[in-house]
Amino acid sequence: MLRIGLIAHDGKKPEMVSFVVAHKHFLQNAKIYATGTTGAHIAKEGFDVECLLSGPKGGDAQIAALLATGEIDVVIFFRDPLDKHPHEPDVQMLMRLCDVHNIPLATNPAAAYYILRGYEAELTK
Ligand code: PGA
Repeated sequence: MLRIGLIAHDGKKPEMVSFVVAHKHFLQNAKIYATGTTGAHIAKEGFDVECLLSGPKGGDAQIAALLATGEIDVVIFFRDPLDKHPHEPDVQMLMRLCDVHNIPLATNPAAAYYILRGYEAELTK
């Protein structure tokens, strides 16, 4: 089962909800971890979500720790490049650890689409 971490900055939460709904057939079979507020939005759409802390309170850091210890396979993080974030150091740390551990990271819906398509193809081989 694919284990996925989902995070969306406030300005990107509607895009995240649209994305997960559009990919429900695939994501409903995945283990979903999400930062607190993002996870609450996703859960409202009927997904089973393990909600971590809110991003600014340490949720990004929790996702980073999970991928570093091999418990998350892929991260979808819709960042808002037009806003400032008090937890920018955590965001950088998360992205760095994705590279350290060779974890696919999508920061926008177009990239996320192709990553999920790749996993779908792999898992249905
Ligand atoms: P949130 O955190 O899902 O709790 O809003 C996301 C973030 O800002 O990193």
